[in-house]
Amino acid sequence: MSEIATNIAVKLIRRESVTPDDGGCQNYIERMLAPLGFVRTSVDAGGVTNSIYTRMGELPGTLAFAGHTDVVPTGPVEKWQFDPFSGEIVDGILHGRGAQDMKSAVACWIAAVGKLCGEYTPIPTIQLLITSDEEGESVDGTIRIIERMQADGTLPDACIVGEPSCSEMVGDTIRRGRRGVVQIKATFHGKQGHSAYPQDADNAIHHAAPALAKIATIDWGTPAAGFPATSCQITNVNGGTGATNVIPGFCEALIDIRYNPANNFDGIKCTIEACCEACDVTLEFDHSAIAFSTADGPFLDLVSDSIRRVTGIETLRDTGGGTSDGRFLAAAGVPVAELGTTNSTIHQVGEQVAVSELATLTAIYTDIIENFEV
Ligand SMILES: [Zn+2]
Repeated sequence: MSEIATNIAVKLIRRESVTPDDGGCQNYIERMLAPLGFVRTSVDAGGVTNSIYTRMGELPGTLAFAGHTDVVPTGPVEKWQFDPFSGEIVDGILHGRGAQDMKSAVACWIAAVGKLCGEYTPIPTIQLLITSDEEGESVDGTIRIIERMQADGTLPDACIVGEPSCSEMVGDTIRRGRRGVVQIKATFHGKQGHSAYPQDADNAIHHAAPALAKIATIDWGTPAAGFPATSCQITNVNGGTGATNVIPGFCEALIDIRYNPANNFDGIKCTIEACCEACDVTLEFDHSAIAFSTADGPFLDLVSDSIRRVTGIETLRDTGGGTSDGRFLAAAGVPVAELGTTNSTIHQVGEQVAVSELATLTAIYTDIIENFEV
């Protein structure tokens, strides 16, 4: 089976699809899946190609795979040993942009479904939720797919996200949640004036400094189990005209908060507002990613069991890394586990993956599909 997954991965890599361009990948996937009984629903929006491929199952329940066909830019092409869009295989290593993130995982899932269909093995309803905007803005990508499924009443019972979750070998790590992100722009207002005439001015930095000191020392409470603590970082402070003798009329600060699920956006907003209570301040909040955590239970156990059966590895249920589209599915109430290849070269010049990983990942996906129950 690894050959089939590898061939598909090569063909996907050869389709240049720098975000949000799909490069024809999703049409190619449709042509492959149609003979297996999949029907494609296009949910294109804002120049982004989104597809829901569905195959009605012989068994109850719906298991989804979520992934993306877009890749990040190559960087300087002359620094690549192999053409980033050639899908060259040398000494068991597949080279190219998307080899780890995440065309190989898409290929492995297709190979796994194809294998089971070819064997007439009864399986649940399978969905592939594929977007060409995961690496970019993620505004018209997976969100639109989920809106469509919510409207149609076709949300899956569980979802594997094919992001490259593993560190040393396939199966060593799954991601069962991610921290959320809140970004804040705080503008403290005062009145500019001459430093020798403070009675005619109002120093914005003097207002900002104590408020920022409070923000820097907020106690965010006990973190949710399995998650790093909430991190609140003041990343920029800017005020004043550059002149020593001018009292600043404003001071601007940028704050970046990575919160674990023990905190939430409303609570964070109230806490920050309380720290600035005494100030004339404008606070702009951007809740760019919601925190999520899939609880221990049958779905995560199935994924761990499949990994153990195929590789013998006890997998780590991790919550590290940045954000992923898993957050949108989790927000819709779908249990999510992220499982893909290793991630040692993602977004780097010379992205590559061992072909042997594709064989292992295909076998794990096959086992998950075969043993999925609702
Ligand atoms: Zn990715």
